[in-house]
Amino acid sequence: MIIVMKPNAQEEQIQKISNLLSSLDLGVHISKGQERTIIGVIGDKRKLRNVPLELMPGVDKLVPIVESYKLSGKTFKPDETVIKTGGISIGGTSFVVMAGPCAVESEEQIFKAAGIVKQSGANILRGGTFKPRTSPYSFQGLEEKGLKYLERAGKEYGLLTITEVTSEKAVETAYDYVDFFQVGARNAQNFQLLREVGRAKKPVVYKRGPSMTIEEWLNAAEYIMSEGNYSVILCERGIRTFENATRYTLDLSAVPMVKSLSHLPVIVDPSHAVGRANLVSPMALASLAAGADGIIVEVHPSPIDALSDAAQQLDPVQFSELMQKIKAVVGVVGKTLKEDQWKA
Ligand code: PEP
Ligand code: MN
Repeated sequence: MIIVMKPNAQEEQIQKISNLLSSLDLGVHISKGQERTIIGVIGDKRKLRNVPLELMPGVDKLVPIVESYKLSGKTFKPDETVIKTGGISIGGTSFVVMAGPCAVESEEQIFKAAGIVKQSGANILRGGTFKPRTSPYSFQGLEEKGLKYLERAGKEYGLLTITEVTSEKAVETAYDYVDFFQVGARNAQNFQLLREVGRAKKPVVYKRGPSMTIEEWLNAAEYIMSEGNYSVILCERGIRTFENATRYTLDLSAVPMVKSLSHLPVIVDPSHAVGRANLVSPMALASLAAGADGIIVEVHPSPIDALSDAAQQLDPVQFSELMQKIKAVVGVVGKTLKEDQWKA
């Protein structure tokens, strides 16, 4: 249920209701919109049977939330969420480009990648340090050593950084090194991990699992948000279908669909969806046209030498060409690429 406050509701009236709900052991989630404040109440509604909430000062009305996903849905928060961190906005009119190698492989490799990412006008440097590989015998990532390289490269080139976290331990280790966490497709329904990321309160790119419906995806996002972390960026990265010409099938219609259901920003990972470098740029541009708030793309100084996902990583020339095209198109769809948003 949500409590819609009157447009002129006072802060102390909001606080009084919030305290009352907390005293009843109910989850309280406050969303301050442009016009009014909405209080999301989560928990057993029977506790409110004898509480005349609608008569409390400042309250306009009570509305049940019919969707099972409550905090990520538009009933709770009609305005689009814009996540602001390190001088960068994600959501709204901004189009963000996160780029970098599949994995941090060495200090030299991530520094080279950072130079390419910065020069082409992207905002955020990606690099896997805990790699959830299909086989346990494949390269598993440099873990904390990789995080140190990633942090140094980000600082050197004035880029924010993102890495995937695969366990509670990884959340703890990566916390001080990166600006964003990523929860990958394989862990999309690892609810313990989602709760942990929720408690960590760092902005998170949360990928759709390859077999998850949109409803399941939004429901799972609640595990992060219900712990108090509202800085969730949803990422479509391809789903499993009968088609095997591409690695997965990029479900681009998920972008406008999710944006109609949720206030959260939605980005696209064309790299893991298609699995082949020559298809990445067309799908990146299609994502922009579909209304995505950004992309996350794999770029490697020398893809042929990559220790993971070699076939899908863009080389510096391919990435620079993609960025030129994005710059040419971005304004047409009413978005801006914030090149000037880099961390100083
Ligand atoms: C990744 O981004 O490095 C990754 C493993 O992607 P996904 O979780 O989408 O497979
Ligand atoms: Mn990869």
